[in-house]
Amino acid sequence: MNDELRELYQSVILDHSRKPRNFGELHGEGCVHVHGDNPSCGDEIDVFVKFAGDGSVEDIKFSGQGCAISQASASMMTKKVKGRSRADATKMGALFRGIVTGENRQPENEEELGELTLLEGVQHFPQRVKCAMLAWRALEQAISQKDGTVTTEEPNA
Ligand code: ZN
Repeated sequence: MNDELRELYQSVILDHSRKPRNFGELHGEGCVHVHGDNPSCGDEIDVFVKFAGDGSVEDIKFSGQGCAISQASASMMTKKVKGRSRADATKMGALFRGIVTGENRQPENEEELGELTLLEGVQHFPQRVKCAMLAWRALEQAISQKDGTVTTEEPNA
């Protein structure tokens, strides 16, 4: 990573972790709440997804506390998947996993992920991959809990 990129990386991550987007909670009809934690770092996250009638992500918020990587990743995730279909949101998670683990880094994937690509540096730090993936794993769980018209709020680790 050159210096310019490193600076960009740091400023974007810090900005998201200090001023998280879509921070808060969602309750009510169509909402699913998933709690996730990452004991190795102490990160905790609560992801709230409001699914629309067609199953797409109508709204998404998160709350929690933890390291800058976990918070920034969650903040960027909410921006990225809001308004997307479940299939799209699931695909984003898979692309993101490919980038942060270094297992699947295609230029077109990086384009699709936008600023989330800035987290690719964590691939060199296995512990940090867990931080970056925490919110995404919670999202995955929320999507899998969303079953037809049944709505539940099940905090689940
Ligand atoms: Zn962490």
